[in-house]
Amino acid sequence: MTNTTQQPHRNGSLEYCDAVIIGAGVGGMYALHHLREMGLSVRVYDGAGGIGGTWWWNRYPGARVDGPGSPFYCYTFSEELVREWDWAETQPSQEQVLDYLEHVADRLDLRRDIQLETWIRDARYDEAVQRWTVETSAGARVSAQFLICAVGTLSAAHKPDFPGLDDFAGECYHTGRWPQEPVSFAGKRVGVIGTGSSGVQAVPEIAREAAHLTVFQRTPQYSIPARNRPLEPELMQYARENWDEVRAKMNAHPVGMPFETTSRLGAEDTPEQRQALYEELWQKGSFNLLFGSYADLLTNKETNRTLADFVRAKIRACVKDPEIAEKLMPDYYLGTKRQILDNGYYETFNRDNVTLVDLREDPIQTVTSTGVRTETGDHPLDMIVMATGFDAISGTMLRLNPKGRGGVGLKEKWSSRFDNYLGMAIADFPNLFMIHGPGSPSVLYNMPLGAERETEWIGNCVQYLRERGLGAIEATPDAEKDWDKEVNELANETLYPLTDSWYTGANIPGKPRQFCVHLGGPLYFQRISEAAAKGYEGFVFEEENNGDVSAAS
Ligand code: NAP
Repeated sequence: MTNTTQQPHRNGSLEYCDAVIIGAGVGGMYALHHLREMGLSVRVYDGAGGIGGTWWWNRYPGARVDGPGSPFYCYTFSEELVREWDWAETQPSQEQVLDYLEHVADRLDLRRDIQLETWIRDARYDEAVQRWTVETSAGARVSAQFLICAVGTLSAAHKPDFPGLDDFAGECYHTGRWPQEPVSFAGKRVGVIGTGSSGVQAVPEIAREAAHLTVFQRTPQYSIPARNRPLEPELMQYARENWDEVRAKMNAHPVGMPFETTSRLGAEDTPEQRQALYEELWQKGSFNLLFGSYADLLTNKETNRTLADFVRAKIRACVKDPEIAEKLMPDYYLGTKRQILDNGYYETFNRDNVTLVDLREDPIQTVTSTGVRTETGDHPLDMIVMATGFDAISGTMLRLNPKGRGGVGLKEKWSSRFDNYLGMAIADFPNLFMIHGPGSPSVLYNMPLGAERETEWIGNCVQYLRERGLGAIEATPDAEKDWDKEVNELANETLYPLTDSWYTGANIPGKPRQFCVHLGGPLYFQRISEAAAKGYEGFVFEEENNGDVSAAS
């Protein structure tokens, strides 16, 4: 690469750097660090007012890591970072995660190359110079050989177009676009629409403060107690002292966590043994029921039913009013929608100030200036909280809509299928890499670890080009087809595709149905390493054309 410099430089109205990264969340921050360490000049842009991506936007009440969190939901590459950061709880709050990311940004001196409050208006590949030209909302134009899209999997907020929504005179917020200023629920009649992870986290918090809370539920979901608690100092210490070993376990685990996996099948136990195991794991909380119960939980309908029955019985036992309990009863294969963890969700429906509206039997007709009207009547509200989710996984790339060869936009390429290779590269979009793209393990993997491993692959690929004087790399359409097949085959061995979820795109009206997560875990990382070892099998290269870089436009 003849144009590599340590610092971005300017030529007329155009700024030049080696790589533009879009997104300053968990993925973009690490990509900046890693590529900069390699000697590349890098610029990062993010539309948010701060670093942290999803952890910057999702500040709704109750937002916290809802998985096996501390001390393993973090960057793993630096023992120093592990040593110097104390996690307070097993499932840190949004505020704590953001504090950690702020700390990382300071420690790695990331901020000097990150421009916030800056959306990318246009990103376009110029075949003549083998570079991307990016135009920002501030009117700046930047030319980069590589475009790294770390745009987030759960970032394009889905705000259903309820009739009359614009007429609502009260406050209205989306959980994924929560205001920076404190929001008070005190004395207010609040309506929460949506009962996915965000709604389930927010509901108990809002109910404690609001005069009245109405929960508008369309599809009931299984929720498991998070059992968040102060992190045992011994665990933190163990992790610090044995980080290499912990990291190796994380790398070998199906979802990137340092836990043992089970090979036991549901049918190997008697109903009594299963019940006892489920009870023990329920008491432990978090994802123990998913990872610690049976190996065939997500592949065998009968095993799945036994756990689903167990959780349904827990809901019945918790919710005092049997009619309300029945409305809360989920009916799909447990775990095939993103598993929800809660801190007192079902108990909330025992409160006098909480009403559950079952939208399946009483759908929303319209939003009025004073509330929500369902078929059976009006629900007067001072505030609406839309916990209605995201155009997940592919939505942020489509919102960016980069233009590849011939000026063809991604929206056109992805009009019916999200074709790509290795979850990272797209045919006709040379030198563009996605972190956590469709077809990578992304949302079903420990995301900071996944981002590190994908970024390291991208870094090696960039190095490969530099060492050989190559100007561009591009996935082939055949490799995309094979990858699509592989992702599908893995998914079809499981129960995931049988459920309508945001994993399959079913939550967005009109979105093509496609299961967009590579379920291989370590297999995925083996596959991408193999492709690299075979000289980036599935890719084609172009010699560096030595075009006049200053001609990029
Ligand atoms: P979600 O899981 O997609 O849930 C959206 C909810 O809104 C669902 O209950 C959905 O009902 C409902 N909804 C959507 N459109 C609707 C409409 N037109 N009318 C009525 N209801 C409608 O979104 P989310 O809760 O924001 O969670 C998304 C993902 O973000 C999670 O699965 C998780 O991966 C991540 N997340 C992570 C954390 C964390 O702490 N790590 C926290 C929150 C979220 P249907 O089910 O019927 O579509």
